Formats: sequence, structure tokens, C-alpha cells
Amino acid sequence: MVTGRLIGDEGMGRDRRARRVADLLIVGGTVVTAAGSRLADVAIADGRIAEVSDRLDVAYPGAEIVDAAGLFVLPGCVDVHTHTRLPSDEEPDRFFIDSVAAAFGGTTTFLAFNNPGTGISKEGAASLLAGMREFRARTEGESAVDYGLSAVITGQQGYPIDELPALIAAGVPTAKAFMVYDFRLPDDRLFEALQAMGRHGGMLEVHCENATVIDALVGEAVARGNVACRHHALTRPTYAEAEATHRAIALARAAGASVYIVHLSCADALAEVAAAKARGWPVFAETCPHYLTLTAERYDAPDEGEVIRSVISPPLRSESDRGALWLGLRAGGLDLVATDHVPDRLAVEKRIPAPPFPLISNGAPGIETLLSVVYDEGVAGGRISVERMVDLLATTPARLFGMTSKGAVEAGRDADLVLFDPAATRVIHQSELHHSSDFTPYEGREVRGAVRSVYLRGSAIVHDGAFGGRRGTGRFVERTLAPQP
Ligand SMILES: [Zn+2]
Repeated sequence: MVTGRLIGDEGMGRDRRARRVADLLIVGGTVVTAAGSRLADVAIADGRIAEVSDRLDVAYPGAEIVDAAGLFVLPGCVDVHTHTRLPSDEEPDRFFIDSVAAAFGGTTTFLAFNNPGTGISKEGAASLLAGMREFRARTEGESAVDYGLSAVITGQQGYPIDELPALIAAGVPTAKAFMVYDFRLPDDRLFEALQAMGRHGGMLEVHCENATVIDALVGEAVARGNVACRHHALTRPTYAEAEATHRAIALARAAGASVYIVHLSCADALAEVAAAKARGWPVFAETCPHYLTLTAERYDAPDEGEVIRSVISPPLRSESDRGALWLGLRAGGLDLVATDHVPDRLAVEKRIPAPPFPLISNGAPGIETLLSVVYDEGVAGGRISVERMVDLLATTPARLFGMTSKGAVEAGRDADLVLFDPAATRVIHQSELHHSSDFTPYEGREVRGAVRSVYLRGSAIVHDGAFGGRRGTGRFVERTLAPQP
């Protein structure tokens, strides 16, 4: 695909714009932005997009040329929800491995949470600032793609609210709080966290499920001996998610703050978000590829070893919920799609034979299959346009999470690009993925479209299906949120 090469000495080190010198030209592809698509060339200089226009091969003589005829030129995906593992003595490569998987999937920037399950130390889990410093130190020089941190505010930290201004000022303006689990925030602390985030230019992300309802249902199920995997889903009804979503929005409204609802899974919760948006409130929500493609039918499989793969929270929902989420992505009730990637392994974290469901690790991998699955089901399936997909996977996540150099094929932005072949088809198999998990929820699924090459700040990190990046090329992104209108 590389058809020429040479960077002349003449323009190096001088004003590239005046001399029209580029390092790389991607020519003849269909450049897709949230606003529209067109056949155009992309000139890249010093890791940034210098120009998007016609016939740039004439304007920038001497640059290396990549022929993108027949391909989409997409911005690299920005996945704002992952639970990648920190490198440890036992598993020193784990963070790197999942960053490589991101690259193969067309994701050039991801945000990771440093919640306890990700390998953060006790000290790091006890303080937001200590947790941020530890995350940065342990991931330095590890990632193949750019990445950032979203913190986690828990009920087990001493005074997390006091640390928020310094955390936000240090480039970590988003954090997640949970309304369920033993590390959840009670409503009064959640309210304080929303207030502090609102005052200091941050945005709180909230995992919305009603703990009282779920704890009661789980307790009843266990008392009756209903501990098989599928009871995980039966004890987490949609109304428990919708109620908590409503409450989080009400608390944010009272706090005068924005709020971001993570992994929204059902029509009932979506109705809460849509109602808030209709009132003009700064309420945002993501959904995940698995809620857009898979349903609760998976819990009916006779084999527990199959069902355990779908033990995630919130659980997979009904076919009508799935349809509602796609409508939400089209109509704007949902702002973006992120993966909630958890690199659990059946052999290690999940464990087979399955333990009673309350003891099963919640989560499933997805960092590598985001673009494939959303393109296939969404764009090729006729549910959303390719422009809307770019908006949902790159442009809006970059904007909402304060990464102004990311998320669009546009002059001045980082040259994080994906060359995507819409005419290809492939079958997803665990054996061909690169993530650190040992399964994929999409095993055997045929998808239309395929990632051909991926560029991170102008360097090919995936080229014609082979990894061409390096450990440590990925930079930590310090973020600042735009003020809410
Ligand atoms: Zn999550």
C-alpha cells in the first residue's frame, strides 16, 4: 500500500505550512467526519493533520504516499470506558497487551479507570491523588496508543471530595462513582461529588443501579438456592437501573452539575436521560457494543461455561431494549458508545466451574471489537450513518472528555487515523484477537468491514494487519473539559 517515499531535506525544520512539506499523504480515500464524507487526501506533518483537501499529491511533492482508494479514512476511536489492568510483577505486559489490542481495533486513545480490580495498590485506592500518581508511574512507557485516566470515587476513600480540585487540575477531570457494590457512594456523598465536580470543571460519571433493590433480590435468590449464572441477570431488573438513573440526574440537577451515565443498557433508563436532555439539562450517556448486539437470551444457554461470559453489570437486556438503544443513538438520547472493557479470563477471574453468581467477576472484554461491531451492526446494518458512527466513537467522546487534539480528521488535530475497508468481511475469533482476555463475547460472529491500517500521531502502528507500533509510543493525555454551555 505504500507506493512512494522520501522526505526532502529542503523543508525540514522550517515553516512547513509555507513550504507545504508533509511527511505522509493518505490519498484517494473517503474522509469521514461527523458532518459529512468526501473523497479527499490527508496531509500529515509532525504527527498532526496539516490539510484535508483534493490533489494534495501535487501540493506536497516528495511526501510518502499511502493509497487509500476504496477505504474510509476515519479518526481513531476514542474509547472512554475501559478497565485495563496495571502492569504487575506477575503480569508485566498486561497493560501493553490491551493497548495493542486497542490499536488493532482502530482505537488510538482510551481512558482507563483505576478501580481496585485493575491492580491499583491499597494506598492508591484510598486516595484519588495517590491513585493518579501510581497509575501514571506504573503505565509510563507501557502503552502502544494514547491513553488517559478517569478516577474512581468510592465510599472507602477518606475525603475524596477534598482531592477533586487537584485531580482535575492535574488533567484528570472525570471520575466514576458507583451507586451499587460495597464501595458505592451513598446519595449524600454522591451529591457532594457532583457539586465539587461542577464547581471545579469536572464531570462525574455514575454507574446507576439501585443497590437496595438489587441487594434484596440477590439475597432472596441465594436464600432459595438460585445461584446459577443466569440469576445474575434476573436480580438486576431494568427498573433498578432506571430508578438510579433518575436519582443521579436529580442529584446533578440539584448540584448544578453535569452528569454522565455510564453503560446505559435499557429503554427505561434511556427515557430518563432523554427527558433530562429535553429539558436542556447537561446530562450525557453512553451505551456499549454488547447492549447493542447481544440480548438476555444468552443467559438461557444450558452450559454455565457459556453463560458466565455474559455476567456483566448491568446485564444484557431484551430485544426491545436493544432496539431502543439504537434509536437513542440515532435520535441523540445517547451521546456515544464505549466498551466497558474488562479483560477477564474464564481461566482466572471468571473461574469455571462457575461459583454462585454473586461471586462471579463482572465484566467482559471489548477493547478490540468496538469499531468492528458498531460498524457491522450499525452502519452496514443500516441503523446509523458512517458519519454518525464517527461522531459516536471518536468526535463526541473526544469533545466531551476534553481531548481537543483527538476525534476528527481535521487540520490541526493529531493524525490518529484508521484506514477501514468497508468491502471486507471477517469472522471474529478469540484466537485472532490480541487482548489479554481468553474469550470474546463475539466468538464466531461475521462482521462486515475491516481495519487495514492505523496511525497514531502520523506513525503506522498497525499496517496491513501487522503491528508496527512500539511499547511506550502512547502518551498520557492530560485533559481539560470545555465549560458546559
Ligand atoms: Zn466500567
